[in-house]
Amino acid sequence: MSFDGRSSEMATVDVLVVGAGPVGITAAIALAEKGVHVRIVDSNLAPVILTKASGTQARTLEQLPERVVAAMQAGSVTALMARVWENTDQGKAAVLSIDMRGRTDTFEGVLAQEQWRTEKVLSEYFETLPGVRGRMKIERGTKLVSFEADDLGVTCELDTPAGKQMLACGWLLAADGGRSTIRKALGLSFDGETMDENFLALHATFDGLGECCWSDGIHTTEVGLSKGSGMAPGLFFSMPMPEDSPRAQLLIVDLDEAQSASFLTGEADSHGRPLLRPPRDDEVAEIARVRGFGTSELRVVPGSVKWCTGFKVNSRLVEHYRSDRVFLCGDACHCHSPLGGQGMNMGMQDALNLAWKLAMVVRGQARIDGPLLDTYEAERRGTDERICRAIERAAHGAASRNPLVFFIRGSLQRLAGMLPALHGTAVRAVAMQIHSYRDCALSREHWERPPAFPPLPVSRIFPAGGYRRRQNLYRWVGHRIRAGDRLPNFDLPGAQQGLPARRLYPYNHGWMLLLCEGYAHENADLARNLSSVKILSAAELNALGKEIKSYSRGVIETVVTLPASHPALEVLGVQAQCLMLVRPDSHVALRSEPARLGSVLRYLESAVGVKGLSWDRAGCPPSSPRFDYLPVVVWASVAAAAVAIQLRRWPR
Ligand SMILES: Cc1cc2nc3c(=O)[nH]c(=O)nc-3n(C[C@H](O)[C@H](O)[C@H](O)COP(=O)(O)OP(=O)(O)OC[C@H]3O[C@@H](n4cnc5c(N)ncnc54)[C@H](O)[C@@H]3O)c2cc1C
Repeated sequence: MSFDGRSSEMATVDVLVVGAGPVGITAAIALAEKGVHVRIVDSNLAPVILTKASGTQARTLEQLPERVVAAMQAGSVTALMARVWENTDQGKAAVLSIDMRGRTDTFEGVLAQEQWRTEKVLSEYFETLPGVRGRMKIERGTKLVSFEADDLGVTCELDTPAGKQMLACGWLLAADGGRSTIRKALGLSFDGETMDENFLALHATFDGLGECCWSDGIHTTEVGLSKGSGMAPGLFFSMPMPEDSPRAQLLIVDLDEAQSASFLTGEADSHGRPLLRPPRDDEVAEIARVRGFGTSELRVVPGSVKWCTGFKVNSRLVEHYRSDRVFLCGDACHCHSPLGGQGMNMGMQDALNLAWKLAMVVRGQARIDGPLLDTYEAERRGTDERICRAIERAAHGAASRNPLVFFIRGSLQRLAGMLPALHGTAVRAVAMQIHSYRDCALSREHWERPPAFPPLPVSRIFPAGGYRRRQNLYRWVGHRIRAGDRLPNFDLPGAQQGLPARRLYPYNHGWMLLLCEGYAHENADLARNLSSVKILSAAELNALGKEIKSYSRGVIETVVTLPASHPALEVLGVQAQCLMLVRPDSHVALRSEPARLGSVLRYLESAVGVKGLSWDRAGCPPSSPRFDYLPVVVWASVAAAAVAIQLRRWPR
């Protein structure tokens, strides 16, 4: 690649990723796997061994390459229960227990391991990718010093172990963490708040845990809220850690003023984080014990503290995720309380959302000035903002020392404990499987209505009106997977698709076209009311899928046909014959009923900006709006006329 006006001696690359934390490496993998020439640099000389993000959620795991997931599973434990404890004068009681088993349709529970292990697995995978192995490594000790972006690319100044280097790249990806220099250089505001409380996080092995952290032989992640004699009002949060399980835990506690004063030095490190004096094992145990963690016999195994840090919780969101040719993702865009284990997961999903879009543009499949790249900010900032706000509310509620808040919070938790119907939604929310891009520009639905005027025979006018009403009701309130939703997991039909019989996830392919045969009586209704629609058999649908794929200029990689007997139709909320176009990050992009070549190609051209598509545009009627004004105006006029006639007849 060359960029106009730049020295021919300057190194060039499609995308430069700055920051080799979990987010940057995920982005580099996803880009390199799609054939993008990528470089990834990090200012640290060597990987940093920190426990930090210990929980990886189902939605992240299902999008990662299978080899990465297998390596992560091999070195981790999985927390399958979540429990909330209340510690008061009356003793210690579990007010809410949630069993995470069977609640998500891919990975159960929360996979727990130290962040440095996750980063190690990701780096090893990246460095052994076919286009990367032997040619490239994560460039450590290399710092982005400055950059300048223009219409054609970004010129970056790198400080490398071998000296200064200038690099021309098409796109710059800032995964440089919460103190992002790129965000600051762009002048983007990072508004939000810093909570008053000081927190302490530590990774250690404990004796005397009692019932804590382990329930009927399964690992639990726990939240404890304490007040009363012998207890320091506040909270703890724990997550099992792989080695020495279940005794090894990542524990986060908030410190009250007295504890802060005795434990923190009052000084700050270069990042502004409060500096701790090295904690003694007995101090660590005491702080945890007075929060109700473990039993009164709680003891830290001597020499077992692997990581201990103090921090304040920031809750912030960047103003924009994109500035022309520079994109931000991960902690560079958002930060919040670590309770709930979402931060790294959100960042990795930012990276996965952006990577396929950027790859389509870099590879020349999608127009550079098209709408695709702008959808990154709309989709991810909206989702991240909702998560940040929810965590912010929960963090304030959990950290409050007000006795009334303690009482209301405990009552609500007890009530939630008695309503297991809520548990599934709560687990799927934490697993991040409920997030949808429904209202975003890349999510579209194509529906057709019966013609409003002749040639519709008069006898068909009322049935067609009824069909349209049913269709709209189903669109508004019907239980169905909509454009923007995550595609649920189901068994793919086997060999006839040329695919091995397997579950959809771990999902690791490009765009997928899903053709659904639909149920016979719904198909008959569809054909009766939309005269231009021909209902296809499963084999004909498959042929249509292949035709659409051949027209898609390499965008669609997989075609799957679901026959009427397939149980997934129920999960997807399919009625009549339809198709779904599924994005590489497994969100439904287009839902089209009926299944038409034209609706897919029109979508790819207008919503995605795919170049060079050609098809018979007349072959696909326009999509119908959700609301028809004409019949409403006609019926309202008829009703108004009837009322007027009645009023005239009324005796005065
Ligand atoms: C106690 C604690 C517990 C947590 N638990 C969880 C959890 O359970 N689950 C979860 O999802 N999240 C959790 N998090 C949050 C998680 O750690 C972060 O969200 C995650 O590290 C963000 O990753 P990142 O790649 O965006 O940034 P980082 O991990 O901060 O990586 C940024 C990288 O960029 C590099 N860099 C910065 N500037 C430059 C430059 N100019 N040039 C080159 N390199 C540069 C840095 O050296 C660094 O390696 C927790 C955090 C804490 C503190």
